[in-house]
Amino acid sequence: MIDTDILIVGGGIAGASLGAALAARRRVLLIEREVHCGHHSTGRSAAFWLESYGGPAVAPLSRASHDFLQSHGWLSPRGAIHIGQSDVFDNLPTLAPIDRAALEKRIPGLRAPWRRGRDEPSCADIDVAALHGHMVGMLRQAGGSVRTSAELLTAQCNAAGWRVILSDGTEIHAALLVNAAGAWADQVALAAGVGTIGVVPKRRTMVQLRVGRTGLRDLPLVIDSRGQFYFKGEGDRTIWLSPHDEIDCLPCDAAPEEIDVATAIARFEEVVDWPVEAVERRWAGLRTFAPDRVPVYGFDKREAKFFWCAGQGGFGIQTAPAAALMAAAMILGERPALDPTPYDPARFG
Ligand SMILES: Cc1cc2nc3c(=O)[nH]c(=O)nc-3n(C[C@H](O)[C@H](O)[C@H](O)COP(=O)(O)OP(=O)(O)OC[C@H]3O[C@@H](n4cnc5c(N)ncnc54)[C@H](O)[C@@H]3O)c2cc1C
Repeated sequence: MIDTDILIVGGGIAGASLGAALAARRRVLLIEREVHCGHHSTGRSAAFWLESYGGPAVAPLSRASHDFLQSHGWLSPRGAIHIGQSDVFDNLPTLAPIDRAALEKRIPGLRAPWRRGRDEPSCADIDVAALHGHMVGMLRQAGGSVRTSAELLTAQCNAAGWRVILSDGTEIHAALLVNAAGAWADQVALAAGVGTIGVVPKRRTMVQLRVGRTGLRDLPLVIDSRGQFYFKGEGDRTIWLSPHDEIDCLPCDAAPEEIDVATAIARFEEVVDWPVEAVERRWAGLRTFAPDRVPVYGFDKREAKFFWCAGQGGFGIQTAPAAALMAAAMILGERPALDPTPYDPARFG
């Protein structure tokens, strides 16, 4: 039997960052069902920091995470350009417009219908592996433990705290249970006898393409204003491309579907005249959203020993440092630097 103050379920960026923020102050045990932490959404992201991504409720978490990411050298300048065939940038009123001539310079070979653009120069690439590795390392160095191949099966709560049973039969006693299980967040809530929130995992596809054009390594992140695609430079002749798909699915080890790869390429070919030479890699991951697409951080409204850290959608990497500090402050009974009200799980009835 293992005894701990805080049991965190999930070794992705959410669980690891929160564990890193808590381990110096409480006994923390993080459990991860897979052999390695970061196997699911965290290991499959497009790895960018984009302030406008996720909307106004997410932006404070992204902004507050920026300096931490920058100071560790995990951000590389990329820049982003939102493009459109007409002026449909209602959600980006503060970004400077770019005219067709300037668009052509920054995206050579851009097809004629793409006449409008908005500039978001602060966009950066995130070194996700370094960030996640740092968080897991910090958790351990501060005295916390990480146990992989360890799946929570059941959890029962009484006045003394939680009695948790893992798939290998291990029994854990914990004062607080943290749900950082990504796509499985509602399943963990059910296993603990806590009401679900209604999070929905949505599959997103990524493709690494080799194209008949050179000099692409520093190509900005190019995002469609209607949300049909994005792509960014990867190597001299390679790009990362997504059809911006959001396909509802059950929690799973997501894999790309041929149709989504084909859709991505078809949309890409309508944007630039670069010949597609090969699909070098393809992968998919789950972006898991709460019903209002705002992340969920806080104590469950009925079970005060259950803390939600879920629904990070498509912005869980770029928000992780600040979200973890905010959640840790709540757990430690301190005043968070950011207002946690928008993320309160109690908003779901
Ligand atoms: C294609 C794609 C592109 C993305 N691009 C970006 C981007 O550019 N920038 C950005 O900020 N974000 C991006 N995201 C979103 C980001 O990856 C996620 O928001 C983030 O990784 C979620 O982290 P997490 O820790 O909540 O989930 P996960 O990384 O999925 O971790 C949850 C973990 O919980 C474990 N678990 C579940 N149930 C149990 C159980 N019962 N017992 C033990 N362990 C359990 C799982 O095995 C899993 O490892 C992207 C996502 C995808 C899929």
